[in-house]
Amino acid sequence: PLPPLLFFEAVEQSPIAISITDAQAIILYANRAFEELTGYTRDEVLGHNESLLSNNATPTNIYQQLWRTIQARQTWSGTLVNRTKWGGDYLAELIITPVIDRDGELKYFLGMHRDVTKVH
Ligand code: FAD
Repeated sequence: PLPPLLFFEAVEQSPIAISITDAQAIILYANRAFEELTGYTRDEVLGHNESLLSNNATPTNIYQQLWRTIQARQTWSGTLVNRTKWGGDYLAELIITPVIDRDGELKYFLGMHRDVTKVH
């Protein structure tokens, strides 16, 4: 059997930035890599919308398509330009997937992203 806290520690130590949000994209959890990549501490992001990572230049239709996809309980993946706390823009390769609870309700989203600015 898996040790009780193994899932938590594995997510916590993942090199991919991982966050869990409610159904409105309000951040409920962010892992260590998320803090390192974005420059925000957990205290600064918990309770805030993931939109705090937006560079405010992404066309609305990209977000509309993202939301249509995840609200239809599908996984969305794509590349967005995000902005760190310090104002630096980076290319974020992002996967957002719905988390369905035991009652079949969509209450959470799992977000995973990494910096692909330098990947070529
Ligand atoms: P808004 O004007 O708030 O939204 C733009 C459009 O998006 C709206 O016109 C609407 O069509 C749609 N939309 C926004 N919120 C909702 C909603 N609650 N329900 C239905 N449609 C909606 N964004 C990033 O820029 N970078 C990220 O790294 C990022 N990670 C995310 C991770 C997760 C797990 C989730 C769920 C969302 C993530 N988002 C991310 C999207 C983010 O939550 C915002 O929707 C986005 O940044 C646009 O916010 P805005 O305030 O600029 O625009």
